[in-house]
Amino acid sequence: MTIRTILSRRQLLLGAAGGLALSGIPGCSDEIAPGRYTQTDIDHLANQRRRETEQKGKGPYGVHRYAGYRGLATLPWFDTDDGGQLICVDDSLPGIVDVHAHLGMSILFKPQLDLLAATPRTRHLLDCDGSKPPCELDLDIYVNGNFSPEALKQNEKVLTTQGLWGNDVVRSHTIPNLIAEMDAMGVKHSFVLPIKLGLPFGDDLTEQWESAIALAGAGDRLTSGCSVHPRDEDRVEQLRRYAAAGAKLVKLHPTVQKFYPDDPGLMPFYEEAQRLGIVVFFHGGRAGIEPESSQPFAVPRHYARVLDDFPRLQVILGHAGARDSDAMVDLAVKHQNAWIGIHGQGITSLERIIEKTGGERLLFGTDWPWYHLGATLAKVLITTDTPQRSSIRDAILQGNAKTLFPELLG
Ligand SMILES: [Zn+2]
Repeated sequence: MTIRTILSRRQLLLGAAGGLALSGIPGCSDEIAPGRYTQTDIDHLANQRRRETEQKGKGPYGVHRYAGYRGLATLPWFDTDDGGQLICVDDSLPGIVDVHAHLGMSILFKPQLDLLAATPRTRHLLDCDGSKPPCELDLDIYVNGNFSPEALKQNEKVLTTQGLWGNDVVRSHTIPNLIAEMDAMGVKHSFVLPIKLGLPFGDDLTEQWESAIALAGAGDRLTSGCSVHPRDEDRVEQLRRYAAAGAKLVKLHPTVQKFYPDDPGLMPFYEEAQRLGIVVFFHGGRAGIEPESSQPFAVPRHYARVLDDFPRLQVILGHAGARDSDAMVDLAVKHQNAWIGIHGQGITSLERIIEKTGGERLLFGTDWPWYHLGATLAKVLITTDTPQRSSIRDAILQGNAKTLFPELLG
């Protein structure tokens, strides 16, 4: 039985009980309401992929392809240390804040995973340095385009077994390994974002990560967000409990948790988040590797109502909308309460985002352990490498996050 099977069984059960109609939040077998997802939306994603393939390497920064993460050492800001690890050698950078990272997930049957253990090598989910030759890392495409079809398949196995018997990939996604990479890249503070999947048991990543960070004494380097499932009837109470325990950020994932951000049933939740001063971090837009049935949930216009109706709620739109970044960034620019997590965007796209926003409300994020921290850092450094952009560089790497979370980062 896979996680997905269990998840869909739970949703079927809930759907049969009629609880879903009450909250207005759809289950997984729901039909798509008119206008929610159109042929234009489908074409838009296909066009983005086609354009990206045609235009990669032809943008303002030309070709940026590297032999794995270590290959980034050929850029002026990086080098490798004696052990062959990528290090950042530019000491003019501010202490970087990463608003988008994760730790290893041991869920469902809770396979063995020691979040406090260092392992010899971090095996990123895109394990570019793990093969010989290393995989080619193209910085001018949406980052998940660097996965080969085989690597994607392998990844699916890794993600499934972390709820069953575990695997060595996930067992390397630990606190010491993350901090070692943060030190190598000059990252001072990272937010790790748990996700509640809606499993029948073993679905407590928020609690696991918080207690692991406390046990490791790593609270000065790592902050855990919290996660609730939009379908949990006690979602507002859960949020209150997490806020009372000190949570500053809640992660919601429309494609994994299968909900529309503007679902009417969720409005009291946003209202409460706004009242409590909790930042909402949405996975934003279609990444293109999620199941097609999940893609309707993440179309940018479905995020608009939250931004409109809760002007004092601070909302981070993760991945800058992923493969929907044009529409997502346009939406964000119109809303002072919208922040753009830049993780995943290629350098031509990041250039466009900087031009549209002037660097305002852009936040550095890496999606570790999917990717090496250096992959996003390199893109920021490439696109801000002029004296005119030095303040934009500082804002993306640190300043904007400090504005959003002043009490955490001093
Ligand atoms: Zn993520």
